[in-house]
Amino acid sequence: MAKIKVKTPLVEMDGDEMTRIIWAMIKDKLILPYLDIDLKYYDLGVTKRDQTDDKITTDAGNAIKQYGVGVKCATITPDKERITEYKLKKAWPSPNGQIRSILDGTVFRKPILVKNIAPAVRNWKKPIMIGRHAYGDIYKASELVVDKPGKVEMVYTPQDGAEQRVIVHEFKGAGVVMGMHNTDKSIRSFAKACINYALSEKVELWFSAKDTISKKYDAHFRALFAEEVAARQSEFDKAGVKYRYLLIDDAVAQIMKHEGGIMWAVKNYDGDVMSDMVAAGFGSLGMMTSVLVSPDGKFEYEAAHGTVKRHYYEHLKGNATSTNSVASIFAWTGAIKKRGELDNTPDVTAFGDRIEKAVISCIESGIVTKDLVPLMDPKPAKHQTTEEFIDAVALKLKQSEPVHA
Ligand code: NAP
Ligand code: MG
Repeated sequence: MAKIKVKTPLVEMDGDEMTRIIWAMIKDKLILPYLDIDLKYYDLGVTKRDQTDDKITTDAGNAIKQYGVGVKCATITPDKERITEYKLKKAWPSPNGQIRSILDGTVFRKPILVKNIAPAVRNWKKPIMIGRHAYGDIYKASELVVDKPGKVEMVYTPQDGAEQRVIVHEFKGAGVVMGMHNTDKSIRSFAKACINYALSEKVELWFSAKDTISKKYDAHFRALFAEEVAARQSEFDKAGVKYRYLLIDDAVAQIMKHEGGIMWAVKNYDGDVMSDMVAAGFGSLGMMTSVLVSPDGKFEYEAAHGTVKRHYYEHLKGNATSTNSVASIFAWTGAIKKRGELDNTPDVTAFGDRIEKAVISCIESGIVTKDLVPLMDPKPAKHQTTEEFIDAVALKLKQSEPVHA
């Protein structure tokens, strides 16, 4: 059969260790046999980043800016041990962090649901996507331990204009204080990315904070979020997507009773805590994808897990591995489907769906990697190796090929 033509190039970022092994298999067995696609390839493997003094990461980020969609393999964020292991010049910063700042993006995690793995929360039937604001608040706070009585004040000295002061507390004894901040620019970018993602997924958008208590700080978040939503109201109406503001404690209670299928935007700390809770509730890291969305609508897809180092070392010893490739495959399908949507090429989008269906059909017929076995009901008699699983998906994909008379 003729390959399906993808109109605009897709930015591909290779990575490290076990996920790099998986990456090549996915490309060779699931993507390249079917798509006529111009992949702008950036090797973000740690050795290449070191050789280029990390210029390659910046180039990759700029390429996503140019072409609009990217797909990224998991990469090593080097620490001391990695510097020795790979003889690196220095501990290069996290590529994800760098690309996030180039695109000014927000990260959304989305679980992949299958019938034979029940979420820990019985009511959850559809994905709950969490958008975490990843700038400021307690993550960029100034803190002080106070060891004797005294007055703590906040002082704002504008570049021009009169100084403003507020008393934080008059200490009668020892205690602690914290000063935190955020910026309108970052809050608005966050709101824009959340709106882009909710409209892209066509799911209800929630934003929650605690503005009943924090009448300036959280109320400011709420107001800016509402302004950004109002500016896009016609798009919400057209897509049939609703926006709701909830108090954070109300949102937490409602999420437990909800069936899912929503995008929940939260402040930095709430996102840190709630994204781990929701991920655990849905099952396995091997089934969690993540998307970076910029305020101007650029998308980067990846698996939410790391490079699965322990499995890689088994692989190097020549031992069979059983690493879950589902999240990496869905990173590819997410990117392909988005490319098809932006290019207005429904056959490309449909091909992304076809791969996803092949994966889900394998899992639902009991063809799975080892990590999923304990979560399944009923439990399959055996598990597949890394390669066997991808081969099984490739076979299902081939069988799903549309028949032309
Ligand atoms: P990891 O790759 O997320 O894996 C931790 C453990 O989780 C694995 O040992 C494995 O458990 C399980 N696991 C994760 N993904 C799996 C999958 N697809 N299939 C089966 N099991 C899976 O974290 P790590 O090994 O601690 O970190 C390795 C490297 O990843 C680090 O250098 C870190 O910098 C990097 N990292 C990158 C990203 C990214 O690029 N987005 C994110 C996080 C971490 P068992 O050992 O019990 O089988
Ligand atoms: Mg956390």
